[in-house]
Amino acid sequence: RDNGKPAEDGDEDDDNDDAVPREREDMEFQAETRQLLDIVTHSLYTDREVFLRELVSNASDALEKLRHSRAAGSGCHDDDDDYDGSNVGDGGSSPLEIRIETDEASNTLTITDTGIGMTRTEMISNLGTIARSGSKAFVESMRVRGEAQRSGTDASGDVDPFGRGIIGKFGVGFYSGFMVADKVDVRSRSAIKRRKDDGNDDDDDRGAVLWESTGTGRYSLSTLDRNVRQDRGTSVVLHLKPDMAQYSDERTVEAILKKYSNFVGFPIYLNGNRV
Ligand code: ADP
Ligand code: MG
Repeated sequence: RDNGKPAEDGDEDDDNDDAVPREREDMEFQAETRQLLDIVTHSLYTDREVFLRELVSNASDALEKLRHSRAAGSGCHDDDDDYDGSNVGDGGSSPLEIRIETDEASNTLTITDTGIGMTRTEMISNLGTIARSGSKAFVESMRVRGEAQRSGTDASGDVDPFGRGIIGKFGVGFYSGFMVADKVDVRSRSAIKRRKDDGNDDDDDRGAVLWESTGTGRYSLSTLDRNVRQDRGTSVVLHLKPDMAQYSDERTVEAILKKYSNFVGFPIYLNGNRV
């Protein structure tokens, strides 16, 4: 239970028993996800930078979903000034935007959105399993190619055991972060109000959820202190591999964003400056 980690920030709150992430669960990735992660992590894929396009497009999708739920009149936390009485972490009227931060000293890259967010249950199904058909097709294609190679029946002439070309073709989504990071943390807080008496077993009023993985088979989930400031939405922290330090360099990241971000319908800020 005590994972030895300090609270996310130094906020001293009244509930000292909430000082560390709690309700920690260690989970195993679904078998197909493990396969995919193994391919992604060990790929010699040259266009690694597509991870940023994938994560920015997830952020954009999440913002789009929030916009839809608001339009549909679903209760969103930030429709209130203050939903839990704490006046902390409510998101307030956070604008719909994507914030990217580089930190060379800690060799991290963080992608934050003020979108729909995820509950713990949603993190398990969305980040722990391959729900998306593109990723399934990718794993299947790698399997078929592997078999064709072993049996010598592959005639395509472009077989690459490391998935070059294929990763770009299918887009491996969220997991592409593991091409450049040896640890990924996702902090998320769902914007949608859920109530137990509506038949939800997901009580997001417990606070934001932290998902952590090194991409090697397992991930963990913990509920963050409700007084830890966490706005509505999601923050993905990539702890970059030592040889991927270029992605914590602002100029490099800016150049990649300029390539891909023109299609994004929400403002993107890099270290506070509009890209
Ligand atoms: P896809 O975007 O094609 O669905 P991904 O692997 O990129 O596949 O993402 C998997 C799922 O994880 C998404 O469908 C979404 O439900 C969830 N997800 C990923 N990033 C975010 C985010 N920033 N905010 C909310 N949900 C997210
Ligand atoms: Mg995606």
